[in-house]
Formats: sequence, C-alpha cells, structure tokens
Amino acid sequence: MKFDELGLDPKVLSAVLEAGYETPTPIQAEAIPHALQGRDVLGIAQTGTGKTASFTLPMITLLAKGRARARMPRSLILAPTRELAAQVAENFETYGKNLRLSMALLIGGVSFADQERIIDRGVDVLIATPGRLIDHFERGKLMLTGIEIMVVDEADRMLDMGFIEDLERIFKLTPFTRQTLFFSATMPPEITRLTEEFLSNPVRVEVARASSTADIVTQKACVLPGAVRDRADREKRAALRHIIDEQGETLTNGIIFCNRKRDVSTLFKSLTSHGYNCGALHGDLEQRVRMQVLDGFRKGQVKLLVASDVAARGLDIPSVSHVFNYDVPINAEDYVHRIGRTGRAGREGAAFTIVKPSDLKALAKVEELIKKEIPRVELEGLTNAEPPAAPEPRSSSRRAEGGKRSEREEKTRDADPQEERGRRRRSRRRDAPERERDEPVIGMGDHIPAFLLREVPLPGRKKRDPADGDKVIDEEKIADEAEAPEITTDDLTPDAKERREGATVDISAEAEAGAPDPTESADAA
Ligand code: AMP
Repeated sequence: MKFDELGLDPKVLSAVLEAGYETPTPIQAEAIPHALQGRDVLGIAQTGTGKTASFTLPMITLLAKGRARARMPRSLILAPTRELAAQVAENFETYGKNLRLSMALLIGGVSFADQERIIDRGVDVLIATPGRLIDHFERGKLMLTGIEIMVVDEADRMLDMGFIEDLERIFKLTPFTRQTLFFSATMPPEITRLTEEFLSNPVRVEVARASSTADIVTQKACVLPGAVRDRADREKRAALRHIIDEQGETLTNGIIFCNRKRDVSTLFKSLTSHGYNCGALHGDLEQRVRMQVLDGFRKGQVKLLVASDVAARGLDIPSVSHVFNYDVPINAEDYVHRIGRTGRAGREGAAFTIVKPSDLKALAKVEELIKKEIPRVELEGLTNAEPPAAPEPRSSSRRAEGGKRSEREEKTRDADPQEERGRRRRSRRRDAPERERDEPVIGMGDHIPAFLLREVPLPGRKKRDPADGDKVIDEEKIADEAEAPEITTDDLTPDAKERREGATVDISAEAEAGAPDPTESADAA
C-alpha cells in the first residue's frame, strides 16, 4: 500500500512525500481511511509506530475545508506532556505546510496572554496538555463547543500522570457529535471505561511495535537450570546481576520488569544491597513518589529501574539501552510492550529474559506472538563453579568491565555475617557506593565450611512490607545475603565466633533503629 491510496488531500500527500515517506506504517494504513470517513478510532499503538501521522494526516485533510471562528477551535489534540504536545505541533507544521491552517499550542512555560491572543483570532487546531487546557478554559477565554475532531494521544500515560479526571471533564465540554481519535499503548480498565463512555462505535486498530524497530533490539533468553523451589529466586537474582555485570559500558540505563509488585520491592532491595544504582516503581506507590523515581531515571541519576508492567505503562523514557525481564511475562503481549522500551528512535537495544524451566511454556507463547525464536544464552561462570581462588577485592572497575564473580565468591559473600553487615551499611549510604564497593571482601579464605552451604530456614525479624500493604515480610530474607543459612555460634572457631557475635549485636542495633526502606525514604522526601 502507498500513501496515495489512502484518500488524503493532495496537498497533504505532497507534504508527506517531501518528508520522505512513501509507504504508510500499519497503523497509518489502517486508521487513516476510517478517520477520513469520520469514524471514531481507538488506536492501540506505541510511540515509534507512526501513530502521530495516523491522526495528523486525516485531521489536516478534514480541516482543509472550513474556517475557524474566534475563540472556538475546530479541533483539539490532548497530549500528556509538553514535549509530546510540541512534537505533535511539529508534525502539524510538516504535514500541513501546503495548507493555511492555524494552530495554537497550550502548554506550560508559554505565557497565557500570548496563547490567548492566538486563540482569540480563531484556530483550526489546538494542541494542549489537559491541565493547561482546563486553566485556559477556566479563564473564560476559550470555548470547546466548536470542536469537530478531538484526539487523545497516549491516554495510558495521562492515566499514569493523574490526568484522567481532567480528560473526562474535557470530553464533557466538547460536543458529543465530535469525531474522536483515541490512542493508547495499553488498555488498563480505567482507559477502557473512558473509551466505552466517550467513543462512538470506534474502529479498533491495534498494532505491535514497527518490526524495523524491534529488529534492532537484540533479544536473548537465559534459561536457568532447575532449582529447588526456595532457591529459585535467589538464582534468578544472581543471574540478573551476572547479566547486568556482563553488559559493561553498553548498559547506559535499563528497566528490569517483574511480574509481581512484591518482586519489584524484593529485587530492588536486593540490587541496592549489592551496590547497584537502582530505583523501584510499582502501582502501589503514590503518584508523587513515582514521578520522583522517574525523574531520577530520566536524568540518569538512577541507572536501573525495577518496575512492574502496570507501573511502567506509558513511561516517558527517551531511550533505554537495556530491558531485563526478571520474569517471562504472563501475557505474551506484555513482552512486546516491555522490549518496546528499548531500541527507540533507531538506537540499538538489548533485551534479556530470565527463564526458569517452568517458564518455558510462557516463553514459547512469546515466541509464537513475535514469530521469532529468542536465542538462548548460557550464563557461563554462574552455574559452573570456578576453581578455588583466594578472595579478591571487589571493585567497581571490575563491574564496569563486565567482570564476573565466581559462584564461590557469591557464596562467601552470602555467608559472611560481617560482609552482610558491610552491605547493609552500604545500602544505607548510597551516596558513596563507589568507595564502598572498593572495600575488600572479608571472607572465609579458600575453604567454605560445609555447614555454611546447608539450607536452614532463618528465624528472621518480621515487619510489615510498606510496599505491599498488609503483607508481613521477613526482612532478613529479603536481601540475597540474608538467604545464607543460619549459623549457630557453637559451630564456629573462636575467631569466627567473635566476628559473628559482633555482627549479631550490630544487626539487632540496626533493627532497633529501623532498617531504612528506600520507598519510605522516597516517600518522606
Ligand atoms: P510516532 O510513532 O508517531 O512517534 O513516529 C515515529 C517515527 O516514525 C517518527 O520519527 C516519524 O517521523 C516516523 N514515521 C512516521 N510515519 C512514517 C512512515 N510512513 N514511514 C517511515 N517513518 C515514519
């Protein structure tokens, strides 16, 4: 299919060709003809699929006939952020350059007076963020009763940003005879409800991410050997750290997806205690906290974002070098959305999925959906024990070089209470992670006594999980290191006994002071 078969105005068509596009993307090919017929469209598509042109091109064609009246815009496009609104405006300028359509951009940071002057003269297209539009409306200088076409772009992101009530109000201020073109990357229940209420018999157009984009994402699946049930999570966490370490400098920033919000908290705490710079995002966090975490991630202050699918919906992240699936998603579609976070705007991306043998069925469903086999990778050095060696100092440079830790070293780390104490302290002093990571490992030398490798349940302290409502968690079990078996002091040499007792005193002192919870501290900030 070519653009000239879609029924666009010849002036729009020539602008599209001048922009260098000949073939419409799937969402353009499907949505444009319906939009030109005046139908409501429900487009389920992400950024990168060409969705902006799928509504701007028919809009310009439809608006080419007719004239705007003062203070009564003829069409309205709502976008969640200033940047996105500005991007849509650019599209209008590019594709509408051969027509004389007037446009106003209502976004924060531009003076009300300037914007009002433009609206006073009458505009064909009003592009706005919901909050700013309501502000203008409340000043009484704008009427929405002349809206013929209304576009909602990235609705799920508006939901994430707390704009749903504004959006609903705006819908009610526009005439019900309007044509609505509604776009969202995902369809959470609140969005579905909105579309049911405000769209009239819409044509549903659903597209996966443009394949050309997905092709520049290197996908890998790391299938772990079977593990006894209570060790599986620990192995997954070790595998994740191993994969992260191996990426070296190619990993500029990444999102780690978990299926359950409970795992988001656990994994976040575990990674933090291992010295990784990360933040957590799940649906239970207050909007304000989520925005803070996201902001840190956008600015590059937070390198790894541990997130659930729900929380990550519509994230405004310009480019992520890596996506890690800590779990194979339960819904195969989520895989497409997850990996869609990387490989944006022509940049290369990498997506790693950790697979337990019991997840192989879910992985097969993903492969069926993407019509592609995801290459398997072996995690060398993780599952094969390395020959004994004296513990080396760990350093951040080793990590940056993609250096691996041996299984032995891992076990030593996990088992030594003094090391655990050091790590707890480090997780608390995240402002100095580099220096702390250079501290030598104080381990058990070359020999690991057999009792250290024995699995014994931890008595552990109990407290409520702030991230998971009523759930009582065993704080000791949260960080990987806490999964080390309990050692009775009778088993130890006099030296180790002394160290151990020192550690015990310290840990309980920390317990009294209340171990810091990063989500709590973010909340308090
Ligand atoms: P969007 O999904 O609207 O953010 O568009 C993503 C990118 O695809 C933008 O850089 C567009 O310029 C580009 N694009 C839009 N339509 C086409 C097309 N038909 N062929 C190739 N690229 C396109």
